[in-house]
Amino acid sequence: MGLVGCCRTPARTAAAFLRQKTLIQAGNGNIYARNFGVSARRFDEYRPATSQMPKLSDIGGRTLFNSDHDMFRESVRKFFEQEVKPYHGQWEKDGQVSREVWLKAGEQGLLGVNTPAEHGGIGGDWLDASIVLEEQGYSNCTGPGYAMHSDIVMPYISHFGTPEQIERLIPDMTAGKKIGALAMTEPGAGSDLQGVRTTAVKDGDDYILNGSKVFITNGYMCDVVIVVAITNPSAKSPAHGISLFLVEEGMPGFRKGQKLQKMGMKAQDTAELFFEDVRLPKSALLGKENGGFYQLMQELPQERLLIAIMSMANCEWAFEETRDYLLNRKAFGKTLSNLQTIQHRLAAMKTELVVNRAFTDQCIELHNQGKLDGGMASMCKYWITDLQNRITYEAVQLHGGWGYMWEYPVCRAYVDAKVQTIYGGSNEIMRELIARQIVSKK
Ligand SMILES: Cc1cc2nc3c(=O)[nH]c(=O)nc-3n(C[C@H](O)[C@H](O)[C@H](O)COP(=O)(O)OP(=O)(O)OC[C@H]3O[C@@H](n4cnc5c(N)ncnc54)[C@H](O)[C@@H]3O)c2cc1C
Repeated sequence: MGLVGCCRTPARTAAAFLRQKTLIQAGNGNIYARNFGVSARRFDEYRPATSQMPKLSDIGGRTLFNSDHDMFRESVRKFFEQEVKPYHGQWEKDGQVSREVWLKAGEQGLLGVNTPAEHGGIGGDWLDASIVLEEQGYSNCTGPGYAMHSDIVMPYISHFGTPEQIERLIPDMTAGKKIGALAMTEPGAGSDLQGVRTTAVKDGDDYILNGSKVFITNGYMCDVVIVVAITNPSAKSPAHGISLFLVEEGMPGFRKGQKLQKMGMKAQDTAELFFEDVRLPKSALLGKENGGFYQLMQELPQERLLIAIMSMANCEWAFEETRDYLLNRKAFGKTLSNLQTIQHRLAAMKTELVVNRAFTDQCIELHNQGKLDGGMASMCKYWITDLQNRITYEAVQLHGGWGYMWEYPVCRAYVDAKVQTIYGGSNEIMRELIARQIVSKK
């Protein structure tokens, strides 16, 4: 039955889902392909490439997915259509989404999809998690910070947390009752994490946390935030003296600032966080003391990949939105899509998209097999987020003045795309990481 409707017994349903997937992959249908000139593959197994589908966002294509994934995707698409899109305009005014949309996502089994069921997550794999990311990209609704919560914060807790931390936090996060955030950036430390000034000083068995963080996604709504702090100021390098802490809403001395006014992503809450003598018990330490930098390095490739996955889907959405518009917009006695210059621009856009879709799918598949390396994740993040900026620019341009109006969704897509090249490690830093691998003698 897929991950569809797995709200009540996520663990049991996830197991059924994984069994079903095995059966589909081992199935022996004998109907041969008639479409697309592919004779060697069976029709019931043939999944067209994105470039072969009527629409780039159509369900049923791409060889890394199967029909079970399609069912799950249908339900996720419906969720964004019904529970997110109609409310997004209001959330943009509010600068945040509602609590309900977190709870609804939890009920639908859309949070913590890739977190093991034995930890209280849904127990799907990275392909399943990618479907939720892609569907949010296709919805063009950036408000809910599900990706930060499910695919960044939950993995830290699941990978480095103690059994007590996992049991205390993961089930509530899967249900959408607790919202997660990750706080690395400070006013004076963004790309260079070694400039972090927030400290956690030992006091008996406890730590006393002091400092502040800025630009934190889900920062205003979060119930639990992973905070990067210095625990050994005299370490031989700052990388050896950083630890991660779980700070929870209501802890004395933990304060949230105002929601920050941003260029785009207006429905997503981004905030400053302040820590004044926050007393943290030993049980708030996430992973090893002074091991924070290495924990961050381990998790960052997934963060980069998920940004690319959402960007890629949003590019495909922007292309389809623009194609629809051009097919209907009348000028010079015909529709704009009749003009050859316009057609050639669409041809260039589509070609660029399907070529990049192939690389993104390769990264998704490799990550699902645990084989994606940091260099590839950086390339994917860098290239696809740059692409998203080019495609959304083109989408607005081809919409003319209407593309500049907020009521036209490409307008929102354009401003929302900008930050993709900045956060998760800026694209300059991505090039730095890729280059280091190229010239490394190892
Ligand atoms: C909407 C939004 C949400 C965010 N969410 C989070 C979050 O949830 N958690 C979190 O911790 N942070 C978050 N951030 C912060 C984000 O990760 C940082 O803004 C980003 O890492 C860049 O850091 P900075 O802003 O300090 O820029 P700087 O590091 O000051 O960089 C400024 C410019 O210099 C370039 N640059 C810096 N170093 C180099 C170099 N070595 N070589 C070449 N160029 C370089 C950068 O690429 C950039 O173009 C968010 C930011 C935004 C805008």
